[in-house]
Amino acid sequence: MNFQQLNVAAPILKALQSQGYTHPTPIQQQAIPVALDGRDILACAQTGTGKTAAFAIPILQVLAERKAAGARGGIKALILTPTRELAIQIEESFSDYGQHINLTHTAIFGGVPQYHQVNKLRRGIDILIATPGRLLDLISQRHVSLQDVETFVLDEADRMLDMGFINDVKKVIAKLPEEKQTLFFSATMPPDVQRLSQMLLHQPVRIEVTPVSSTVEKIDQAVYFVEKQNKVSLLLHVLEDKAIENVLIFTQTKHGADKLCKQLIRSNIQAQAIHGNKSQNARQLALENFKKKQIRVLVATDIAARGIDIDKLGHVVNYDIPNIPETYVHRIGRTGRAGEDGKAISFCAMEEKMFLRDVQKLTGQTIAVVSEHPFPMSNPGLAIPPRPTMPHSALRSGGSRKGRTFRQR
Ligand code: AMP
Repeated sequence: MNFQQLNVAAPILKALQSQGYTHPTPIQQQAIPVALDGRDILACAQTGTGKTAAFAIPILQVLAERKAAGARGGIKALILTPTRELAIQIEESFSDYGQHINLTHTAIFGGVPQYHQVNKLRRGIDILIATPGRLLDLISQRHVSLQDVETFVLDEADRMLDMGFINDVKKVIAKLPEEKQTLFFSATMPPDVQRLSQMLLHQPVRIEVTPVSSTVEKIDQAVYFVEKQNKVSLLLHVLEDKAIENVLIFTQTKHGADKLCKQLIRSNIQAQAIHGNKSQNARQLALENFKKKQIRVLVATDIAARGIDIDKLGHVVNYDIPNIPETYVHRIGRTGRAGEDGKAISFCAMEEKMFLRDVQKLTGQTIAVVSEHPFPMSNPGLAIPPRPTMPHSALRSGGSRKGRTFRQR
């Protein structure tokens, strides 16, 4: 299956080619023809599956055709997404895939002055990518009207609800025309997300690709049991491995991210932090520096890192085990993208063992324990059953491979 067979138009094919995309991903194979047909979609897919292109390609194609046929102005497509980072990333995707198409788009999000965003809106926009708060704000100031929207994408619906945006999302929906195409994307489908989808969608085509727990299979995962106060020392020990070229480290709190970042810098490891208290510019700059490999470590909280896409990210470290198991899957899904190898290392203190158990239950996988390291727990008092173990050296470059089994030590 290739993109031509999905009836993707020539200017987009050319852009995809320059992106190096040879074959559509499963979500693209399923969603593009349905979306081109004008149908609603209910898609269960997480980031990393190629879902952005799955909605961006048909939107660009249909709007370009309508514009060529003389359609009048106004915002024709709205993509609602939970975070500023995602909004920026989605807009970049529209720029990439739409580089040979004459359509305008912009992203609006909070945390920055509205001036530049308003200026762009004034010039006329075909495709708007927005976070809910700033969108409602600009609607109330009459800088945005949604009355011409023909296609509405709700991206990361479950995250949107987790982040407490349900009322904002409903307010946005109320401002959209009754008749429209809706493309609904969510990594998981808990009951409140299902209710929202029922409210919004009209005879949708259901698409499900790789359920949330199964995408982690291709990622090498390991856990170190460690006393909480020894986590920094253990991290420095792990980072001695030069094979770890770039690593995204997750902490549970903003304060924890800043503190860890300072400790790393004190130990001569180039690091920057991104979290909700940092300005939008500081976050973008840190992300750019990390993508360009100017810093080795990016420390992030979950919300700041939601959906961010870093090419060839080799390692993810869960400095803290998240208390929501799906978050673990989202975190480690930053690595091992587009068929690349990825490694996820987790540090588990005594009080986090139950979170680890929840993670293993969700993924149905047993995470190998690295038993040989300089900072073992003094009293492991296993609250979870013993796991297969492997020496620390197995994690070093070339030591750990997909499908390898680790013998009990
Ligand atoms: P997404 O799930 O939209 O966040 O996309 C994840 C990553 O896959 C991004 O880096 C995309 O550039 C990349 N990607 C999307 N579609 C394809 C494709 N058909 N072939 C190769 N890479 C792709």
